[in-house]
Amino acid sequence: MKVVVSLEELWEARRSLKPPVGLVPTMGYLHEGHLSLVRAARQECASVVASIFVNPTQFSPTEDLSTYPRNLKRDLDLLEKEGTDLVWTPTEEIMYPADFQTWILVEEVTKPLEGAMRPGHFRGVTTVVAKLFNAVQPDKAYFGQKDAQQAAVIRQMVQDLSYKLQIVVCPIVREADGLAMSSRNIYLNPAERMAATVLYHSLSAAKQAYADGERQADKLRQMVRQNIEAEPLAKLQYISCANSLTLREIQDEIQGQALLSMAVFFGKTRLIDNMLIGD
Ligand code: AMP
Repeated sequence: MKVVVSLEELWEARRSLKPPVGLVPTMGYLHEGHLSLVRAARQECASVVASIFVNPTQFSPTEDLSTYPRNLKRDLDLLEKEGTDLVWTPTEEIMYPADFQTWILVEEVTKPLEGAMRPGHFRGVTTVVAKLFNAVQPDKAYFGQKDAQQAAVIRQMVQDLSYKLQIVVCPIVREADGLAMSSRNIYLNPAERMAATVLYHSLSAAKQAYADGERQADKLRQMVRQNIEAEPLAKLQYISCANSLTLREIQDEIQGQALLSMAVFFGKTRLIDNMLIGD
């Protein structure tokens, strides 16, 4: 496995990779969720590239950039075990030189949900992902359904900017008790960690209600809200039942596929989770 930092080293290493090339962009501190993307890429592509970069432009000044967990040595060990061919770990100076002034802005699909709660977040995400795509030139890029809106936003960007690559979205990997894996789970204290299973349980209950015939989006939102509000350590930021492609909130009956998604605070830690319902 080759590890490169500079753009020049990356371009040089990229030249000898056999196609198709799969890219797995990450912010590091890897867990089984990230590794599931690497495994999918390994299965489908002749070469696997992973990037590790904690992207400062997708964090607001009040968010956890300075405390975001990092462990490069462990990440590289894990990536090597999964058969990754090339890892790119650019610095902030490489990605954002002092005179940086070009941004990618995806419009409608970035407005609700995470975009509404985290102004500027998706501008940072799309800009860095576009830079990763430009530098690595992958044939396929792998993202997690855990960040469902991010996947929708990237799909839109790929379509709008005519990138010649395929986006693959992999299912959410969960802990044994249902909590979606996330680098941020380590911020939770033991009581919060136990309480955090309420995300999965409330989404599962709503999915079951749908399976039992409930079609009113508002009923499902209400159900999740009540479950979250019953957990004293949880503070719901938003609950959404939206069209899974446009992410527009469904007003009445669910038709086709819907994305049930939410953000919940446990103390200062903000967790997101989601489930697709219908087809
Ligand atoms: P991050 O390092 O948090 O930026 O995540 C890198 C990629 O891993 C993103 O595409 C995430 O959606 C994906 N990912 C993070 N957690 C999970 C998970 N629990 N299951 C599947 N994919 C995940």
